Amino acid sequence: MSAPPPSPLSIARPDIVRADPYEHAAWDPTLERLHANELPWRGEDDPSEAGLNRYPEPQPRELVQRLAELYGQPAGNVLVTRGSDEAIDLLTRAFCRAGTDEVLICPPTFGMYAVAARVQGAGVVRVPLAAARGFELDLPAVLERCAPSVKLVYVCSPNNPTGNLVPEQTILRLTAALAGRALVVVDEAYIEFADVPSSARLLADQPWLVVLRTLSKAHGLAGARCGTVLAHADIIALLRRIVEPYNMAQLSIEAVLRALRPGNRALTEQRVALVRRERETLAAALGATAGVSRVWPSATNFLLVEFEAPQVAFDRARAAGLLVRDMRRAAGLERALRITVGTPEQNRRLIGALGAGGEP
Ligand code: PMP
Repeated sequence: MSAPPPSPLSIARPDIVRADPYEHAAWDPTLERLHANELPWRGEDDPSEAGLNRYPEPQPRELVQRLAELYGQPAGNVLVTRGSDEAIDLLTRAFCRAGTDEVLICPPTFGMYAVAARVQGAGVVRVPLAAARGFELDLPAVLERCAPSVKLVYVCSPNNPTGNLVPEQTILRLTAALAGRALVVVDEAYIEFADVPSSARLLADQPWLVVLRTLSKAHGLAGARCGTVLAHADIIALLRRIVEPYNMAQLSIEAVLRALRPGNRALTEQRVALVRRERETLAAALGATAGVSRVWPSATNFLLVEFEAPQVAFDRARAAGLLVRDMRRAAGLERALRITVGTPEQNRRLIGALGAGGEP
């Protein structure tokens, strides 16, 4: 019989695995709280249900349960975070020893993976996406550059800012090759806008896979700051040891629970459908606009667009009161702007502004 595969904790920071977690005040809502040094009175304008004078429940059970249902996972595979930004930070701190370990990213991609690594003192290995092949992930190069020091391999799918998906086959080949060596962290911030299922359904068979989700995009809750780590229960238990006990503010917990009620979920689906329709309308209109050299296909709520004169396009959008994202500092995107799909009215205004004045 072959040896059982090692636990993903075998590559976590040994000092974190051994450390005693902070013991937060016990959570027992049936008793009166004289154990957490809170004030016993609510503020006059306190809009919360629970009372902002009280610390919130750590990893609130109802919220964890609701997110577990939303993402089709057991509650033990769920960690609630202050946006996926906090999830990225926690993974980096739990798995990367400063000065020794590294993360691997495939630029151009979301900037926080490298920022979190830098803050932790971890190295960043960069394996560029293959622009000539539609920003495809360069699997052989990723595997080749995955030295034993690489602990986290980020796969952003769909990717920000290029908008394309990484095929599930590629993710499975990565986890097959890297199990026992590195975690494959699939960031699915935009997956609701795509046509494919989440990789989270692979988790039962893939303990070295981590999936990041967020309510900031399709669910329209960026201001509530609610992300989720979906992973093997050992990884979740480890992250629970280092996450701040009160990472989710009470007002956010309540707002998210309200937003995830079944009636509101239907509204989310309608809005996602509208964004997807508008994305195609906007892409077609941009493609027909003078001075636009390329509109990349997108499985997200934004478009990566290349212009003959990007500064002129940026200025025209701004003059119409619309901010778009300048991507020109990213390697390979020297002529690109990233444009979020807005309301039909905003999208029409953008097209009007970019098309105005003939050739930019
Ligand atoms: N991942 C990706 C790919 C993103 O684009 C973003 C936000 N722009 C995030 C994560 C962070 O999202 P959150 O609001 O959940 O922190």
